[in-house]
Amino acid sequence: MRLNRGMQLVNRLLPAGARHRLASTAASPPLYDVVISGGGMVGGALGCALGFDPHFENKKILLLEAGQRKDLDKAPEMYSNRVSSISPGSATLLSSFGAWDHICNMRCKPFRRMQVWDACSDALITFETDDLEDMGYIVENDVIVAALSRQLDLLAGRVEVAYRCRAVGYTWPVPYHSSESSPWVQIELSDGRLLQTKLLIGADGQNSLVRGSAGIQNVQWRYDQAAVVATLHLSEATENNVSWQRFLPSGPVALLPLSDMCSSLVWSTSLEQASQLQEMDEESFVDAVNSAFWSNESHSDLIDSAGSIFRSALSLLMPSGSSARQLPPSVARVDPKSRAMFPLGMGHATEYIRYRVALIGDAAHRVHPLAGQGVNMGFGDVSSLAQQLSKAAFAGKDLGSTRHLLEYETERQRHNLPMMAAIDLLKRLYSSKNAPFVLLRTLGLQATNVASPVKEQIMAFASK
Ligand SMILES: Cc1cc2nc3c(=O)[nH]c(=O)nc-3n(C[C@H](O)[C@H](O)[C@H](O)COP(=O)(O)OP(=O)(O)OC[C@H]3O[C@@H](n4cnc5c(N)ncnc54)[C@H](O)[C@@H]3O)c2cc1C
Repeated sequence: MRLNRGMQLVNRLLPAGARHRLASTAASPPLYDVVISGGGMVGGALGCALGFDPHFENKKILLLEAGQRKDLDKAPEMYSNRVSSISPGSATLLSSFGAWDHICNMRCKPFRRMQVWDACSDALITFETDDLEDMGYIVENDVIVAALSRQLDLLAGRVEVAYRCRAVGYTWPVPYHSSESSPWVQIELSDGRLLQTKLLIGADGQNSLVRGSAGIQNVQWRYDQAAVVATLHLSEATENNVSWQRFLPSGPVALLPLSDMCSSLVWSTSLEQASQLQEMDEESFVDAVNSAFWSNESHSDLIDSAGSIFRSALSLLMPSGSSARQLPPSVARVDPKSRAMFPLGMGHATEYIRYRVALIGDAAHRVHPLAGQGVNMGFGDVSSLAQQLSKAAFAGKDLGSTRHLLEYETERQRHNLPMMAAIDLLKRLYSSKNAPFVLLRTLGLQATNVASPVKEQIMAFASK
């Protein structure tokens, strides 16, 4: 079934001339065991994971990145406005090849508690670890990429990294090729050079060219929301080890700790309000942020009374279950020029693999940032794919074979699909101001907050 699909694809995607053009050039293009197209956080992590794997010692790996190399000897004074909440599972992966130490030496803020609450009622849920362990870390994306680059430098000779190098076309092999066609994936670069690889990894982000030119379908929709990000200065120094998120009817607003005095804002809202937030003067912007976290204008007496009765009943049933509400810090100012806006959507590749190709990170799945899971899912892909490829390399198998690639796909879809469904459901459930919906989620959130085993399950799933 898959093989037939591969053959149909080649015939559908390429004019006959193009199919043989690469194979017929005089000197054969350089051949790699693995080419990773896209050297963002996820592609860079896979480059490190494979490069440091002893089973890949004799393999040729190439990482192609269209952008410039990002170097940071130490973190710059100003925080970047692009940050990620990194799960303990992702930190373990980054530690496994030495990148986490660089991140900690540059800049990284652990958090110990999460508080999530509804702007339409008093319902809240808190997550914290019993043993003062870190729940996660807020790290600038540039710091992660710079740490990966440093580790890739140590792999010179094993992993070749080509910056400012864009792949512009791919030619797919026919499984069980005939003598006149190439058995490998052919890659055309923007400078006209040609390469070939036994396995191509698409780590080229949400608009993946690898996914598109392999003909892999992407189920996707826009949320008609954009995330406004900014670096904020707090009114006073605090321990700042809580990650805050409030669900407003227009979308969730999150305050992620960066230091005692600074936090990062991710405010998902309607496209219209996002543009207004971008354009307003700094003072009005700070007022809008404080009001987003503090204002009770969306509360209703009916929901507040029902919520309060339900909460009292729960506290009788489970006296030790609930945890105290904390107040978020207030914001004093915004870093000039730190405001930026990103349109939001959801996307999922119907297949993560084909013969000699695999997708990882946002090329395979894109989610709303409300759960801070996008790059963590990508790092999960890296762990899983690196493990499957390591086993295949150890056993001397063809790295591009669908047999072990399918194991990667199955393992990751089992994790990613429920996560994506939960994130999409949360986004929809909290977009409504409709009283029955608000009541339902208020009672649901309060019940979940006192049900420790359920909270532990949620934390375990999200920390992978
Ligand atoms: C506002 C916001 C907040 C977020 N917060 C979080 C969070 O807290 N936690 C979390 O886990 N996730 C978060 N995410 C999601 C996270 O940012 C993404 O999941 C992550 O950046 C995806 O990484 P990637 O490496 O797969 O793709 P990308 O970051 O898109 O990298 C793709 C790379 O491929 C390169 N490339 C593209 N095409 C080519 C080509 N043809 N040839 C060569 N190179 C190419 C690009 O230059 C780029 O460097 C957030 C997203 C947004 C928008």
